[in-house]
Order: sequence, then structure tokens, then C-alpha cells
Amino acid sequence: MNEYDSEKVAQLLCEARQLEMTNTPEDADVIVLNTCSIREKAAEKVFSDLGRLRELKEERPDVLIAVGGCVASQEGTGILKRAPWVDIIFGPQTIHRIPELMRERAQSGKPQIDIRFPEIEKFDHLPPPRKEGPTAFVSIMEGCSKYCSFCVVPFTRGPEFSRPLGDILAEVSTLAEEGVQEITLLGQNVNAWRGQLDDGSQADFADLLEWVCDIPELERLRYTTSHPLEFTQRLIDAHAHLPKLASHVHLPVQSGSDRILAAMKRGYTSLEYKSIIRRLRAVKPGISISTDIIVGFPGETDQDFAATMKLIEEVGFDGSFSFLYSPRPGTPAANLSDEVSQEIKTERLHILLAATDAHSAHIADSMVGSRQRVLVTGHARKDAQELAARTDNNRVVNFPGSASLIGQFTYVTISETATHSLRGVWRASE
Ligand code: SAH
Repeated sequence: MNEYDSEKVAQLLCEARQLEMTNTPEDADVIVLNTCSIREKAAEKVFSDLGRLRELKEERPDVLIAVGGCVASQEGTGILKRAPWVDIIFGPQTIHRIPELMRERAQSGKPQIDIRFPEIEKFDHLPPPRKEGPTAFVSIMEGCSKYCSFCVVPFTRGPEFSRPLGDILAEVSTLAEEGVQEITLLGQNVNAWRGQLDDGSQADFADLLEWVCDIPELERLRYTTSHPLEFTQRLIDAHAHLPKLASHVHLPVQSGSDRILAAMKRGYTSLEYKSIIRRLRAVKPGISISTDIIVGFPGETDQDFAATMKLIEEVGFDGSFSFLYSPRPGTPAANLSDEVSQEIKTERLHILLAATDAHSAHIADSMVGSRQRVLVTGHARKDAQELAARTDNNRVVNFPGSASLIGQFTYVTISETATHSLRGVWRASE
């Protein structure tokens, strides 16, 4: 999501202010830090980055420094107190206002702050999608209204609201017509999306998937992130009858213990979570499931952790983003007392990561010898002579092949596994 927002900021500044992108801060006239506050470590990073920029600002006072994203949203003027050399502070819902804030900064000579949540305004004022390669993100909803007890997102990104159906379909069509083959629909909880139809009735996320898949030029569709709460049977059935829908769902579970899930205010039990997975696999055998897990939520006992390990074993996740719980200011869980030591939490995380990594490697091994339909996204990261492609189940495959394949779907046979990728063989006849 932040990648999407950063891209829009860059696009907006390039178009509105005739700026060019550079990766070297010393060359820049405008420096934008787009920040994340999901965990403390990410939030603290911005202040160390700002510390480094202080010198640069002293040498070249004309350089404009902007801080955006969720740390900006949460800290507001607090950023100016700690780093008075910052010129502009904007939030996740006001990225479209940067050019205006820059103008106001120049006119007033004072730092400018806008961290409001003016709802749908953001979508109406962002530049149209721009094609860069065969894949693209399309944002379909913003914010979050779930209020999980550990999470800062509802406070930093504001409440859930859906982007209008017509706008989404127009954006996907434009991208697909320009040659984008694979689109990822983006939102905090994409399955909370609701649309208003002309006859006054309401459409849900399963309807949206269907309409997006109807766009002829589009070849493959993904979405992230979905929430177990609104993972309806209609959405599960969409996976059965929409062949363009990739064979992968990222569905954060957070914990396998019902006690912890209740304390997190997730609104489902581990049995309900497993039921979704079982029904998904029934309609789409082999679908890959990845998840997010929080280790060390306040009061997590050995028994709770064992329940999470059991769930991992039972589901067999294809991948997981697992982190230690990080107390976030303003969230209810931040006030909970916690007797479990940091040492035990870290040990649990290591045990959990070893299990999820082993399972992910096991799935990769089982793909060796199989023929996979892949979208060639570009050159391989480590070896520019090779190509990089993405499988239906969201794995990266590197293989030797002609650059003319970039941007196209093709078939490769998986030959071996590497740490976080696969290797493949491509044959012209295939
Ligand atoms: N909307 C999705 C994802 C939310 S944020 C959902 O609710 O499932 C992305 C991930 O960050 C979460 O799934 C969670 O695992 C992690 N996260 C959020 N707050 C956290 C915290 N306080 N400490 C550690 N991890 C956190």
C-alpha cells in the first residue's frame, strides 16, 4: 500500500512540478519520506532518516523536505518538534495535496501540515494510472474500521471507505488496454469493499472480482489484503469460477488461540479461519495460502503459542509475515499488562519462523518438475542475463531466456529451488 502511495506521490510531483526522480538525496530539490507506523521499528526509522537529512538542509536550505504516511498522520506537529527542518507533513489520505502544500510553504515561509481524512477526495485528485511493466496495483478501498486492539491503522489511515465501482473498472480497463497483464486490487481489507449500483442495490467484493475479470485484456487478477471476517462463501465461490483469479490468497490470521484472537478483537475463531481455508481448498485444490502472524501479544501463554503452532501445522501456509507484537500508542492493547519476557517471545518467534520457512521450502520442493504458467516481469535481480517471472501461486522464478519475453505470459518448467525463489527452464516450443 505504501509502495502504491509512494508511486502516486512521485507521479504527482513529476507532473505538477516538472520534477525528475533521483535516488540520490544530494541531487534532490524535494525529498519525500513516506512512512509506516505499523510497528515501532518502522516508525522510529523516520526520525533517524530525518536526522541524516538535517545536515543536507543546513547546507542547502532550499531543499524541500516532506514527511508523509502513517507516522506523519500519527505524530503531526510532533514531527516538527523533533525535526523542525521538515517543510511539509501530509497523511495517507492527503497525498494529492502535496503540490498545493508546496505552494503554501513557499508563499508563507512556514511549514505546512495536512493530515486530515477527506474521504474519497484522494482518488478524485490523483493522477491517472501509468503503465510501467506488465503488473500494476489498483487501490479499491482506503482505511480500516475493524479496530483490532493491537493495530494503529484505523487511527492513521482513517475509516474504511470504498472507491466507486465505475472508477475502479475504468482504471483497470485503461491499464489493461495499455498492456498491463496482471493487476492487484489493493486495500487494508479488500473484502469490505461495497459498491452502489445505478438501481440502488449494493455490490460486494465478489461482484467486483467478477466484473474486473470480465475485462478482456486482463489476464490475471490478485488482491491484498483480505480479512477473515468478511470472507464470504460468495468470495470463495469466485475462486471456483473465475479462472483469471490467481491461485493464491493472503489471509492474515494473527494467532491460532481463540483467547488471543478475542483479546485482539479479530471477530473470528481459529475454527472459523480453518473453515474458510477448507472451503477455499475444496473449490480450488492447491490454492496457496499465506498469512500474517503476531507473536507475543500481551498475555500470550505457552498454551496460546502452542495453539498457533498447531494452526500453522494444520493449514500449511505457503508463506507468512510473522513479527513480534509491537505496542502502538493509542491502541487498546498498548495498555495491557504483560508478564511474558522478551526472551521467551523472541524464542517463540524463532520456533514459528523455522516452521513456516520449512513448510514454504517444502512447497517449493514439491513444485520442482512441474510446468508453470508465469508472467515475465523483467530481468532477474541478481543476474541481469536472466529473466524473472511470477507463478500463479505468487512465487518468483528465474530462468535464462530472451528479453523479448518480458511482459508476457509463458510456460517454464521448475528445475530447482533457491532460498526465496525458484529456478526454471524455458523452451521455445512450450
Ligand atoms: N488489514 C489486515 C492487515 C493489517 S496490517 C488485517 O487486519 O488482517 C498488516 C500486518 O501488520 C497485520 O496483519 C499484523 O500481522 C501486523 N501488525 C499490525 N499491528 C501490529 C503490531 N502492533 N505489532 C506487530 N505486528 C502488527
